[in-house]
Amino acid sequence: MECPICSCKDLGKIGRKKYFCPNCCTEILIQSNVMKIISLTKKGVAKVTKTILLDANATS
Ligand SMILES: [Zn+2]
Repeated sequence: MECPICSCKDLGKIGRKKYFCPNCCTEILIQSNVMKIISLTKKGVAKVTKTILLDANATS
């Protein structure tokens, strides 16, 4: 699996279905068939900035 934002393949796993990209400082949350991109604002508030619908046939 790679970061959908910067294509970095060095994602760290920080939860059961949660990843963190150290390259662009983005959290990636996998929820059933959607991938949520969570970025921190300048105030340090986590905000979902993008929701990507995953291919139901995709495996990772
Ligand atoms: Zn990234």
